[in-house]
Amino acid sequence: MNGATPCAIYRALLRHYPETIPNGISYGDPFEVLILTILSAQTTDRAVEAVRPVLFSRYPTPAALSVADEEEVGAVIRPTGFYRTKARHIIGTARRVREAYDGTVPGTLEDLMTLPGVGRKTANIVLSNAFGIDEGIAVDTHVKRIAGLLGLTDETDPAKIESDLKALFPQKVWGKINALLVQHGRAVCIAGRPHCAACMLTPWCRHYIDGKTNATRT
Ligand code: SF4
Repeated sequence: MNGATPCAIYRALLRHYPETIPNGISYGDPFEVLILTILSAQTTDRAVEAVRPVLFSRYPTPAALSVADEEEVGAVIRPTGFYRTKARHIIGTARRVREAYDGTVPGTLEDLMTLPGVGRKTANIVLSNAFGIDEGIAVDTHVKRIAGLLGLTDETDPAKIESDLKALFPQKVWGKINALLVQHGRAVCIAGRPHCAACMLTPWCRHYIDGKTNATRT
């Protein structure tokens, strides 16, 4: 793959989704971004935004959430799915932020990854959205699938995919490229049924080009 292709892919995505916000969560208070990013696993942006006002009016700080009743928190966040596990994680995270970091969300990948429910993907999103630090590229199911289809990587392990993508895109767009690929995965390059006829990435997509080549040969 030549250097111009990732750049062309990024520009085409940006033209098509100019309003994309990383992870669908607007920038703001690091504590809110952290908790909302944990809640965003395996659900929609709409479900997360729906619980946001009630959750933070009841538990506006790490101190308040850290002593919250798990069942009550679960009832509030129920629309986001897996609410029992998520309630446990966000209360545990609030407690650790309060006890280990003086109530301030830490701003490094290593520290964020010590929080319950926070893996590398979540930590990368929080760093980018809350602190404007692009230390890595969050690789979720959409990023993994589309990066493979496009031919940006041949890896299947998220850490190796992240490493390939980091080598292809400049650091200043690492947060944005995740958000754009997620958006594209929801709107056009849908798992199992990509709408290639409606896709702006066909000129650079390995899956699309290989399909056309094979069709021409038969
Ligand atoms: S051309 Fe098809 S497979 Fe390739 S990115 Fe677009 S929708 Fe996905």
